[in-house]
Amino acid sequence: MKVLYCDVCKKPIENPTPSRNYFHIADIDVCEPCHDDLALALKNTLRTKKPFDYSWHDELTMKILHDGMQRGKIELKAKR
Ligand SMILES: [Zn+2]
Repeated sequence: MKVLYCDVCKKPIENPTPSRNYFHIADIDVCEPCHDDLALALKNTLRTKKPFDYSWHDELTMKILHDGMQRGKIELKAKR
């Protein structure tokens, strides 16, 4: 059985299915709960930024993921 490890929480993802129970963003594998957290963290941060711009949307996604990998979890609250 194929097992993949989430790069953020390091938990194993059994029978990984792309876009179903894990997500591959750039070179990072993210499990579903962490991907949900990422979406929430993005939403919390995007709320404070206007106008919406995809260039920093991608930048922010990577920043949240890299911070998440260091902490072992995604930080939901936007940092000031
Ligand atoms: Zn995870």
